[in-house]
Formats: sequence, C-alpha cells, structure tokens
Amino acid sequence: MTAFPGAGAPLGQALEEIHAAAVSSPGVGRVADYIPALASVEASRCGIAFANLDGEVHAAGDAGVPFSIQSISKVFGLVLAMQRMGDELWQRVGMEPSGQPFNSIVQLEWEHGIPRNPFINAGAILVADILVSHFSASRQAFLSFVRRLAGSERCDINESVLASETRHGSRNAALAHLMKSFGNLEAEVEEVLAHYFFQCSLEMSCEELARSLLFLANRGVHPPSGEVITTPRDAHRVNAILSTSGMYDQSGQFAFTVGLPAKSGVGGGIIAIVPGQGVITAWSPPLNRHGNSSRALAMISELAGRLGLSIY
Ligand code: GLU
Repeated sequence: MTAFPGAGAPLGQALEEIHAAAVSSPGVGRVADYIPALASVEASRCGIAFANLDGEVHAAGDAGVPFSIQSISKVFGLVLAMQRMGDELWQRVGMEPSGQPFNSIVQLEWEHGIPRNPFINAGAILVADILVSHFSASRQAFLSFVRRLAGSERCDINESVLASETRHGSRNAALAHLMKSFGNLEAEVEEVLAHYFFQCSLEMSCEELARSLLFLANRGVHPPSGEVITTPRDAHRVNAILSTSGMYDQSGQFAFTVGLPAKSGVGGGIIAIVPGQGVITAWSPPLNRHGNSSRALAMISELAGRLGLSIY
C-alpha cells in the first residue's frame, strides 16, 4: 500500500476508514430528480478513490461502479476545446465565478451571451459549440478522448439518462438559444445541445475518473501514457477555474475548507485535483442544497484534512 507523503496510515486504510465513517453517517440531502432518470440510482451507493502519479489507484466502497458524471464532463469538454482553439476561446467564455445557480439565465442576458465560466451550463454549452464546430463527429471524439484518458473502453453513455436529459432540457435549450441570439454560438442549437446532453450522460466509476484526470495533477502530461494533454499553462488555467467555479455556489466554501481544484456533478460525483500528487474522486448520490454530494464532500474534506493536501 502507498503511504502518502506525511500520512500516518497507509492510504488504502485511510480510504476504508473515511468510507466507513461516511456510510455510517446519517444521509443528508436528496438525489437529483429534475432529470428523472437520475432519480433511479440507489441513494446508498458510496465510493472513494485516489489515483497517484504512478497510475496506482486505491479505492474503497463502490469506487468501481459507473455513475452519471454529469457536470464533471465539463472538464473533459473544456480540455478538448482548449486543444483545438487558442486564446480566442476566452473571448467567448469568461473565467469568473458566476455567483448564480449553474443553470441561471438572467446573468447571460445581462452579459450579452458571454457565459461567466466554462463550468456553468451556459459555458459548457458554449464549449459544446466549439467541439461541434471543430470535429466532424464531436460526440465520438469526446468519448474516445475520455476512454483514452481513463484507459478503459467501458466508459459509456447511459441511453436512458440521455433520453431523459433531452426530454427535460428546456432550460439548457433556452441558454443555447439566448447565446445564439447574441451571435455567440456558431453551430445549430439542436446539434450543440445533442453534444452537451451526450457528454452529461457519460457514466464512469470513481476509479476511472481519478485515472482519467491525472494530467491535471501533472502539469498537463498524463502519467499512465506520458501523453501531453495540455500545456502546463492550460493545466494551470483549468485548475484555477476549478478552484473558483467548480463546486457551484459552494466553491468559495470548498476553497476555504478544503483548498483543492474540484468539480462536482448532480449525479453525486466530485473530483478533486491534488497538484503534484494525484486525483481524488468520491461518489454518493444525495445532494446538499448547493447541488453537491454531501457524503462525497465529507469524504474528500476528511482525506484532504488528514493529509494536509490544501494547495493554499
Ligand atoms: N446535465 C445537467 C444539466 O444540464 C448537468 C448539471 C450538473 O451536473 O451540474 O442540468
């Protein structure tokens, strides 16, 4: 078993303890149901994984069970768009926290169709437009990219979540149409939304997610393959926006208490990047009032606190 630098107990044992404490704590929150297919997941599921820069993965609980990654997919979408587009990307989407709910429409109107950042829905839909415009088959390109990063062909779309997202996606459609009206979407709205819903419907396990994001902990180079995924500058930029905007309206509190770049999704998953060390991922479906998984948050906070992982 790997011991973390500075950790007393071996990492595997720490993960088991943290998982056991989370499972025995009273479940707080509700499973997301605004996308009806998400509500069918078992609320008691709970897992945590840590992948280190040698590509070793330590895990506890349901860390091998695929779940709906939802907004965590926004990280992969952004990285793929950054690979295709230079700094002009940042003319079309900002890098500031929004201070608004993730699917808010009002701010987009005030700010002339330029989303505040790539991790709110409007920003991710804008990124989807870039992908649709730069790839002949953007959905396949997205899926191949994630599978290559995860080293697993098993990562796949959940078709019933995809159908449910599409049927109940009026708000996202409104965001896309508003950006189109301001001239900030190039492709057809339907095509952009089809890509966005597709990437939100991807299922991955904690173990796969942790492995797939290691390049962000390693200045852009993916440790399992040695492949350069981003420049060090772009890895820095993604981590910076994750730190300020990755945890919905709890991003400030997460930075204050945990201090790691992180992204959550309404499927109950959270990823946290530990620069120079690895990636933590945790999953438990019930969400707190900010839309973050309460148990995943508690597990990551506990691990980061025990091991002194804050970047600040
Ligand atoms: N597919 C979800 C939506 O567009 C993603 C939300 C999330 O995980 O934040 O509403």
